Amino acid sequence: EVIEMGWNLDNSYITLPKIFFSKINLNPVRSPKLVILNYPLAKSLGLNSDALEGYEGVSILAGNKTIEDGAFIAQAYAGHQFGNFTMLGDGRALLIGEQITPLDERYDIQLKGSGRTPYSRGGDGRAVLGPMLREYIISEAMHGLSIPTTRSLAVVKTGESVIRESKKEGAILTRVASSHIRFGTFEYASKFGSTNQLKELADYSLKRHFPNIKDDENKYLNLLNEVIKSHASLVSKWQTVGFIHGVMNTDNMTISGETIDYGPCAFMDNYNPNTVFSSIDIKGRYAYKNQPIMAEWNLCRFAETLLPLLHENQKDAIKIAQDAISNFSELYYLNWLSKMRSKLGIFNEEEQDKAIIEDLLNMMEKYSEDYTNTFLTLTFNKNKDKDMFNSTEFDNWYKVWQERLKRQPQSKELVHQLMKESNPAVIPRNHRVEEAIAAGDKGDFSVMRKLLDVISRPYEHSKDQEEYAKLPKPSNCPYRTFCGT
Ligand code: AMP
Ligand code: MG
Ligand code: MG
Repeated sequence: EVIEMGWNLDNSYITLPKIFFSKINLNPVRSPKLVILNYPLAKSLGLNSDALEGYEGVSILAGNKTIEDGAFIAQAYAGHQFGNFTMLGDGRALLIGEQITPLDERYDIQLKGSGRTPYSRGGDGRAVLGPMLREYIISEAMHGLSIPTTRSLAVVKTGESVIRESKKEGAILTRVASSHIRFGTFEYASKFGSTNQLKELADYSLKRHFPNIKDDENKYLNLLNEVIKSHASLVSKWQTVGFIHGVMNTDNMTISGETIDYGPCAFMDNYNPNTVFSSIDIKGRYAYKNQPIMAEWNLCRFAETLLPLLHENQKDAIKIAQDAISNFSELYYLNWLSKMRSKLGIFNEEEQDKAIIEDLLNMMEKYSEDYTNTFLTLTFNKNKDKDMFNSTEFDNWYKVWQERLKRQPQSKELVHQLMKESNPAVIPRNHRVEEAIAAGDKGDFSVMRKLLDVISRPYEHSKDQEEYAKLPKPSNCPYRTFCGT
């Protein structure tokens, strides 16, 4: 029956030195119940949904049953959390194995909330239903927005309670990632491993994620450069949809360039660069405007781990690493600028584009205007009932923008097309996410399914998305996401 389910595992990670993982014995849960399954994702992984929904399938997704060729390991890693170095590791996750898809791609299949591991420290190794639904929703929204991300295959309720501030319903999320190698995995190797072990991790990462450069003469420098490039691109995508990760610790940054670990993350409504949602981010370290800066800080920590591989002389190695890192801010800026141009229907490049973009953002901030919907208003030239759009400032800005659009050969139709492709009709708004989670907590998953349907195709600009573009009712309390996972 295992074959019928479509498992096709090939576990390369366990060929790494043993310091990088621990074998895990299962921690079965009382009465697992599948509450949501991602059918298209299952299919693309070569897995049979019908079989996954059956008794055997749910047992596997609950961590109650092993698979013959499974890896069943927890991965070791360290990381800088809010600036401080700590030993971490999968404290509540286990890697079932690496699934080879029908298209011959390799994906980690990981259970999150599957019980204690040698890296659990004080934790119970468990996860709460609400936060797992949240990760499912946001990761699938990110995928819909074409932003590199881990995916969510399923959520299973465990039938057991988890003790947090109060008793909560336990759940396990099946996470799919092109790998779970983190900046923190390199920090772990650098701090606790030998140079040889570090080299093995670097070679493994090259082979898995950057096979075209794995035999380069300067392969480790090129690895650093590739990771810098992918994060410059990734964070520019976050910024241009108003996504705030919330916990950009180095253990939550992947070598693959996928967004990972959806804890206290959220999308910004009204534009304010200082926006922080996470209740634990008191100083605003990971505020919206700081995300590119923190990405660079994290890349510095990653680069440091590579120093022994960059040059035998450490002074030279530092110089090489610094030169590489110094490209990040410009790379980020160019990615951001190009995406912002597209959001405004601009095809070619002019010196003053930056000023046009910044003037718009400043207006949005001044009038507390919604980030996503402002771009929709500009795209469709309607819903201009807000103060900002009726100000003299806006009239002046609008003229400058329209004149700018005339200085390119593309027609109005092409401009409109580009703007539709570059500005999502919907983001997973916080009140909608909360509504879906609250219904799920009561056993009703239809609200979540409807939300997923809408946010999985954000560039469609269809009628049934309009309801989801609406803003929450004004509230006196700023939205806060809690880490109580
Ligand atoms: P995070 O804040 O989700 O990035 O997690 C940071 C670290 O805490 C990781 O090593 C997690 O595995 C660990 N962790 C989070 N929750 C738990 C839990 N309930 N039990 C054990 N470890 C946990
Ligand atoms: Mg994490
Ligand atoms: Mg987490």
